[in-house]
Amino acid sequence: MAGQWRNEFKNSRKGQSEMSRQVYLDYAATTYTAPEVVEAMAPYFTESFGNPSSIYSFSDRNRKAMTKAREQVAAVLGASQDEIFFTGSGTESDNWALKGTVWKLAAKGKDHIITTKIEHHAILHTGEFLQRQGYDVTYLPVDEEGRVRLEDLKKAVTDRTALVSIMFANNEIGTIQPIAEIGAFCRERGILFHTDAVQAVAHVPIDVQAMNIDMLSLSAHKFYGPKGIGAMYLRKGTRIENFIHGGGQEKGRRASTENVAGIVGLGKAIEQTASRMAESAPRITTLRDMLVDGVMKAVPHAKLNGAPSGERLPNNANFSFVGIEGETMLLDLDRAGIYGSTGSACSSGSLDPSHVLMAIGLSHEQAHGSLRLTLGEETTGEDIRYVLSVLPDIVAQRRAMSPLWEDYLKGLQKESR
Ligand SMILES: *Cc1c(COP(=O)(O)O)cnc(C)c1O
Repeated sequence: MAGQWRNEFKNSRKGQSEMSRQVYLDYAATTYTAPEVVEAMAPYFTESFGNPSSIYSFSDRNRKAMTKAREQVAAVLGASQDEIFFTGSGTESDNWALKGTVWKLAAKGKDHIITTKIEHHAILHTGEFLQRQGYDVTYLPVDEEGRVRLEDLKKAVTDRTALVSIMFANNEIGTIQPIAEIGAFCRERGILFHTDAVQAVAHVPIDVQAMNIDMLSLSAHKFYGPKGIGAMYLRKGTRIENFIHGGGQEKGRRASTENVAGIVGLGKAIEQTASRMAESAPRITTLRDMLVDGVMKAVPHAKLNGAPSGERLPNNANFSFVGIEGETMLLDLDRAGIYGSTGSACSSGSLDPSHVLMAIGLSHEQAHGSLRLTLGEETTGEDIRYVLSVLPDIVAQRRAMSPLWEDYLKGLQKESR
């Protein structure tokens, strides 16, 4: 069904240039909203526009729709529907988990958060903010493939630790963390455990009970739902402060008139995407592996960043090509109709490349020459073959013009002498 979207998307640039093919490989940044999701949302903009907080029967349908969405989310996580709270985004859920926890527990002497160096900025910048407010935050290192080591977590815990927040799967390199082990450890020590599962939800299996997760952030636009709507799983009995103050919505936990259409869309999207997981994850993994194998064979001195298949999101490929600038490569790819992303940050005015790539030990060179391609449900073998027919030449051409590449080759010669 979503093929209809894809065709519209592909046709949108036809006739504008020779290259009408468009291959979107940035699903980790955002997905399209699935047509069946848009369809489910539509009535809540028009005929059913009532405010769910109004007690008249006109709003009954909206209240029911929100309950259904809560059940749809709960079913995918192994939670119960009264543990699901809708928020404005994954970022808001992350802010709520960190700030809400220390605001509640600091009075009891628990003012320390443990997180990692490879979190999304929604966690990292919230952590830095809290440090400026006087709270204590530890950022755990990761190994070369982006994994947190349980020993490091154990060493970092003190009797002031209120919260451990470790992402389920990384948005840049796709590494999946040993969440069940971390959850078990936190439970044993009586420390709250939050996970930013924005990249993982509906793409890999999650069970908040079996994994001992107390809080979990998710966002609809990473699983074929609309942008600007997220949710937080908050285990029953978990006492944290509210983050958004105002009315009594979401059982008094998150104020503001509910985004009913967004909530309905999130519910539909999580249910539909998760129900296809058993079929789509292996298919996307196969395509991703075909992409990785093709690139590693065709591009000399290429490096695959992240963990092996199995400990990695099915759709994630992240390469480093020394000797070139990631952003130049993105522009070349863009001209060929291929949309990806990079951990290089030159044009954004910051000299520091991706904090994730630095944390797994890459050199600045390797980080600046990085390319993330993330696949989705609409990605085909034809798309991957097209990328493989274009990308190696782009890398070779840019390297041929690059003094960085010349220096790199000279360095290699010196080493072998
Ligand atoms: C996209 C993303 C977020 C932010 O979610 P928004 O809904 O866009 O605010 C947070 N964490 C991770 C890991 C993400 O990939």
